[in-house]
Amino acid sequence: MLAADIGGTNIRLAQIRDGLIVNEVRHQASFNQLGHFNSKQAELHILHVLQEAAETLLTEDTQGLGIGFPGFFIGNSGVLAASPNIPQLKNFALSKALSERLNIPVAAQNDALCAAVGEHSFGVGKGCTNLLHITLGTGIGGGLILNHQPYTGESGMAMEFGHLRVNSANDARLCGCGNHGCVEAYASAHAISTQYFEATGRQTSARHIYQAALNGDENAQTIFNHAGTYLGKAIAEAVKLLDIRHVSISGGLLGAWDILHPPMLQALNQHLIPPLQGKIIILPSTLDDNTGLLGAAKLLV
Ligand SMILES: [Zn+2]
Repeated sequence: MLAADIGGTNIRLAQIRDGLIVNEVRHQASFNQLGHFNSKQAELHILHVLQEAAETLLTEDTQGLGIGFPGFFIGNSGVLAASPNIPQLKNFALSKALSERLNIPVAAQNDALCAAVGEHSFGVGKGCTNLLHITLGTGIGGGLILNHQPYTGESGMAMEFGHLRVNSANDARLCGCGNHGCVEAYASAHAISTQYFEATGRQTSARHIYQAALNGDENAQTIFNHAGTYLGKAIAEAVKLLDIRHVSISGGLLGAWDILHPPMLQALNQHLIPPLQGKIIILPSTLDDNTGLLGAAKLLV
């Protein structure tokens, strides 16, 4: 089985066998910079790039291709209803069009939902009846497994975890979605960099800010403390809605797990109702950054 994980600037493509990556290639793709294309041109460009990338790993034995894509898909149809980074795409039949070009079955689904499937199939969520999975990277995404099945919602937008509102104060931070106070505006890698820049005038990565926090930088420590607290609050709100016991988290910010986890756990229990306090298990992914790729490979199984 082939699997692809599509980011804004990179495509990862791999052959997967029994949950293991046996061969992987990376391609550059600037899918977040297609503003000069109309919708048809953007569709053709994406198909062309994905076809070329897939053909480098395609063999006679290839049974199909699963794709994790940053956008909202209608059920399991492989039709992309919309994509935040490529707004001109509307109801793009990605799976069908690519399947016709490659002559193999193709399935495509939201990247965070693929990560949930990967964690549920191969990672710390294995065997859980229900699982809430959070992707903690440049942005924040979420995917939901209910009764061992991925849950998409009616238009592919279920578990937009990053846009749960965790701060309703007048000065709550503006989120990329246009609302104020979303957890993504505090706890994504991008938000951590932005807040650190606002506090210190220094532009640097979340990874460096984490190191600064370990070295006693109080601004860095405060930002990570707030990020963990808001994540815990958001998880509490989701858990109160869903009564799910297992939460897994993947993504680049896991490198800061040791300073994110304590305030997260404290805020989680503070905001839960008493019968749920102490019952929720939050686990960091053990699949490195392969969660989404492994999940994409399961779409056609
Ligand atoms: Zn938002």
